[in-house]
Amino acid sequence: MMRNIVAGNWKSNKSINESREWMNEMSELASELPSDVRVMVAPPTPYLAALAESKPSNVILASQNVSATNTGAYTGEYTAEMLVSCGVSFALIGHSERREYYGDSDSVVVEKISRCVEAGLGVVLCCGEQLEIRKAGTHEDMISAQLNYALNGITDVDPLNFVIAYEPIWAIGTGLTASAEQAGEMHTFIRKLLGEKFGSYRAGQISILYGGSCKPSNASELFANEDVDGGLIGGASLNTADFIKIIIAAGE
Ligand code: PEP
Repeated sequence: MMRNIVAGNWKSNKSINESREWMNEMSELASELPSDVRVMVAPPTPYLAALAESKPSNVILASQNVSATNTGAYTGEYTAEMLVSCGVSFALIGHSERREYYGDSDSVVVEKISRCVEAGLGVVLCCGEQLEIRKAGTHEDMISAQLNYALNGITDVDPLNFVIAYEPIWAIGTGLTASAEQAGEMHTFIRKLLGEKFGSYRAGQISILYGGSCKPSNASELFANEDVDGGLIGGASLNTADFIKIIIAAGE
């Protein structure tokens, strides 16, 4: 099964016109893209329905967020079902910016995963440790706690619709990247955890992406690790030239 995925997270960037331009560029360059990499992008939410109608077929749409609640009196929220009805295939859950600025605690993460599973929306579950934790050497304990909490009660996942992103917080948007060795060690650790939970056959099918200042100059080295199946890309996903170089690196 193909594990390679490169996913872009635009965060709060780009106008709708700029988004359409990005999609057009991806469409024009489609023939250069490796066929063994799934390409995903998470544009700002207000554009999702429009982009679902005009995006090239080789790009999968993701939402940067999803509601923890269902249909009802929840002003400002959008449900997993709504996203599915707009042609969105995945939602990022537990991104460190959501955890830090918007109260997406571990228990909110659990709720959001449940809503996605119920609605048939794919999940990119993000985890990652702060710099203090990395310095203290307790990063594996923290990731294990984060993932065990998020996946508690889940007995199996559909590997086509469930992706993990390991994003050390100290590497996000900072220009600091985890070394290939640090990323590789953590990804192997995460696959072992998934194996304990879902069995090693299933764990071997799940894509584990690295995120944190991944760019064309470091992508190949990071992706060379057996357990690094691609990347969740912030800044370097905003322009198609850089993003495509990263996609090509994931297919090598
Ligand atoms: C992210 O926010 O998921 C991310 C990895 O950002 P950046 O690539 O800009 O560090």
